[in-house]
Amino acid sequence: MTSHVTGGIMANSNGRKGRRKRRDVFDERMLIVPFGIMFILWIVAAVAWQQDASRLLVAFLVYVGLFVGAGIGTYIALDQNRRDLGRRLIMVMMGGLLLVIAVFSDHGNMQIEGLFWAFIAGIGPYILLHYALAKLVGPLIFGRIWCGWACWFGMIFDLMPHQHSRFRLPPRWGWIRYLHFVASFVLVAVLWLSFNYDGALGRNGLIWFISGLLLYYVMGIGLGLIVHDNRAFCKYLCPISVPLKATSRFALLKVAGNKEAECEKCNVCVEMCPMNIDIPKYIKNGQRVLSTECTLCLTCINLCPDDDLWLSFGLDIGGKEHIDYIPPRSRMKPKST
Ligand code: SF4
Ligand code: SF4
Ligand code: SF4
Repeated sequence: MTSHVTGGIMANSNGRKGRRKRRDVFDERMLIVPFGIMFILWIVAAVAWQQDASRLLVAFLVYVGLFVGAGIGTYIALDQNRRDLGRRLIMVMMGGLLLVIAVFSDHGNMQIEGLFWAFIAGIGPYILLHYALAKLVGPLIFGRIWCGWACWFGMIFDLMPHQHSRFRLPPRWGWIRYLHFVASFVLVAVLWLSFNYDGALGRNGLIWFISGLLLYYVMGIGLGLIVHDNRAFCKYLCPISVPLKATSRFALLKVAGNKEAECEKCNVCVEMCPMNIDIPKYIKNGQRVLSTECTLCLTCINLCPDDDLWLSFGLDIGGKEHIDYIPPRSRMKPKST
């Protein structure tokens, strides 16, 4: 079954046209909050400028205002079919800001190896703080929202033209990320314990960080273009997804759905999910979407023609991975929408 977006209306191969109940009641007044916050932050920035505050602080306030107004405001204003564009804009703005801060703040090597050095050698408090907040504690509440909205790798991968891959390699490919994780740990342990080499802080840390960034970008873009899938690196190679998957299993915030939904002739959410999650399988089982692959990108919620999906807070014990490896997707040649 295939699906496509035509003229702002979602339709699938069964000819079922989507309804836009929530979009129909969109209220432009919802924009008052993001734009209000933007102007308040800009006024604060102007006052700070007049008071001779740090130029960096002024620039930061202006940027955060722009992020809230232009980023979140645009997302809210977009038609639901096009909101993924807004998400990508937010991701570039957020991921770009965090990357600039990470590189120029001299807080250490934020690659996964930096975490291992910080852990083994007891150095790099900011590295530990970053991973604790974004990759361990944060996901316990917000799942892998980092991957869907803030990752400086994902923000570039999502600019490639294969946003909605219909192709997912068999499960064994997903083990490569665990091998990558273990290999990175062993490498750091050997370098630290045998050579007392510190790749976490100072000049070495920065070189390692930037080299690692470039390597991941090359690997992610290369693999993504080969298999026609923007998030191929995330699905098969990324070692950072290992702790993210472990903690996001217990995330309070997840996608939930209407168990009575008439999904039989639709499958739009599955076809458009960038992580190939079999969403209706969870919903039909009366569960929330428990897959640790979910990046909370909200694509499924925005595109469900019957508005049968939403975000919810709750606590789930256990849960299986339901990924759409099965035909017709796995028999298709890689292609993108
Ligand atoms: S899986 Fe890795 S590369 Fe992909 S978005 Fe998450 S942290 Fe970033
Ligand atoms: S399940 Fe929905 S929110 Fe999660 S990754 Fe797939 S489309 Fe995005
Ligand atoms: S949850 Fe919505 S988009 Fe997904 S199969 Fe059911 S009706 Fe279709």
